[in-house]
Amino acid sequence: MSDRFEQTLRANVRGEVYFDRTHRGIYATDASIYQIAPVAVCVPLDEDDVRSAVAVAADHDVPILPRGAGTSLAGQCVGRALVIDVSKHMNRVLGIDAARRRARVQPGVVRDNLNARLAALGLHYAPDPATSSRANIGGMLGNNSAGMRSIVYGMASDHIDSLRCLLADGTVLDLRELSPAEYAAEARRRDRVGEIHRRFREIIEANRDEIERRYPKIMRRCTGYALDEFHRSERWNLAKRLVGSEGTLAVTLEATLK
Ligand SMILES: Cc1cc2nc3c(=O)[nH]c(=O)nc-3n(C[C@H](O)[C@H](O)[C@H](O)COP(=O)(O)OP(=O)(O)OC[C@H]3O[C@@H](n4cnc5c(N)ncnc54)[C@H](O)[C@@H]3O)c2cc1C
Repeated sequence: MSDRFEQTLRANVRGEVYFDRTHRGIYATDASIYQIAPVAVCVPLDEDDVRSAVAVAADHDVPILPRGAGTSLAGQCVGRALVIDVSKHMNRVLGIDAARRRARVQPGVVRDNLNARLAALGLHYAPDPATSSRANIGGMLGNNSAGMRSIVYGMASDHIDSLRCLLADGTVLDLRELSPAEYAAEARRRDRVGEIHRRFREIIEANRDEIERRYPKIMRRCTGYALDEFHRSERWNLAKRLVGSEGTLAVTLEATLK
């Protein structure tokens, strides 16, 4: 990779940036059998750092790969990319609204740490992968994590309220459940947000029958791109569209969970 990429990344990110063999070796694996050394590793301090890292990567045509605890089993966190590790610094619980049963968190919050905070209020975040003492919320949303009790209490996609996320072009999306009128208002916007809402609606409307016919009718489907969540419902929450997308659509900056 070019020296220019390294210099620009170091100049624009306040958190840690690694190009050395040791760190690239450490981040070459997750819990799968795969090994691919990343181009570099960035450990952002905050949302601004993530934005800077993504902008520099886009300018240099370097793919990005968000990472939480890296406990994925199928190589989701392995690739020739700039790895963005949110687990070290972006791990704060930003607020708990006990009355609404909502928790606002940064993506690097560990699931069991969140539940330790919630327990004092008689609340509990239900998805429970076996790795819950390590798994980060960003990674759980990326994989649409489930767990042993999820048949009764639901998987990550059942417990998402809203998401704040970053696209490769620098657009920040705030996604939540919208009524048809609210969705139409978003779709009328003359910016990238409007374009995404319009295009997504067109895809669902043009493929309703195909989606109904072809999407597998199985419990706990975590393969992502769950278009069938939308074709039967009036109120759309595009945050659900991102859950299970394994970091391929956007970087989660913040999530509100229920
Ligand atoms: C022994 C073992 C048992 C397991 N048991 C279960 C289980 O019972 N149920 C289950 O569902 N899973 C299980 N898993 C898989 C895995 O541990 C879980 O899916 C876990 O929730 C992943 O969390 P993580 O923080 O490690 O995510 P990571 O592996 O770090 O990331 C997962 C995906 O999310 C993406 N991602 C991470 N952060 C962000 C972000 N900020 N923005 C956008 N994308 C992001 C990554 O790119 C990746 O595609 C198990 C794994 C192991 C090793």
